[in-house]
Amino acid sequence: MGSIKNEIIKPHAVLLQSQELYKYILDTSVYPREPTPLKELRDASASHPKFFYATAPDAGQLLALLLKMANAKQTIEIGVFTGYSLLLAALTIPEDGMITAIDIDRKAYEMGLPIIKKAGVEHKINFVESPALPVLDKLLEDKDKEGSFDFAFVDADKENYHNYHEKLMKLIKVGGIVVYDNTLWGGTVALPEKDVPEAKRDIRKHALEFNHKISADPRVEICLAPLGDGVTICRRIC
Ligand code: SAM
Ligand code: CA
Repeated sequence: MGSIKNEIIKPHAVLLQSQELYKYILDTSVYPREPTPLKELRDASASHPKFFYATAPDAGQLLALLLKMANAKQTIEIGVFTGYSLLLAALTIPEDGMITAIDIDRKAYEMGLPIIKKAGVEHKINFVESPALPVLDKLLEDKDKEGSFDFAFVDADKENYHNYHEKLMKLIKVGGIVVYDNTLWGGTVALPEKDVPEAKRDIRKHALEFNHKISADPRVEICLAPLGDGVTICRRIC
């Protein structure tokens, strides 16, 4: 696909200090292996005013690997936007897998939907237009759903991450994986508050609290990987 501009590094909240090193990682390890529909979705989303919402392609590559390693079939996606992480999950899980994908904004999802349809994976997606918490509560009303999901990716309102975590600890099976995005919040978690731009302070506070809570949670094994904007990987162990 010659029209796809892989050479452009979009301003994701990159934590690496060197843009050259980030470009090297993308050019060497990520872009050559990125499925064509994901490249197309990345290009199509570039015109959206909030294009920077999309999951960074290197973090996406990690997600795909984790989905495969977990043999994920039943998954949850909280925060869809135009569907980069959703499409990569749909491309990765098996034919009879299903993703419950939740977002308050159907319009953004519809921007990516033609590419999802063209990729032939729409049948693996149950998109729910709603705030995520009531959807998770509804799932929990069905006792059969407890411990029935293999994987979840959380990339929505950061102030609710701790609430999502409590629900997901019931919905995900023991041995299943939950991944939280943006947990380093542009590196601001390590800065004194006075040096953090006003606009970032509120979510920085939530990220600090969430990271502290997860670190002390005996129900999960964790790794806070400095990819993209910080990706916390949790494996439920009890
Ligand atoms: N994972 C997406 C991707 O790869 O393109 C990016 C998700 S974007 C950073 C965050 C999304 O969360 C937005 O589309 C927003 O509408 C959605 N969102 C915000 N608050 C939400 C809530 N309470 N429940 C569900 N979705 C929410
Ligand atoms: Ca994100």
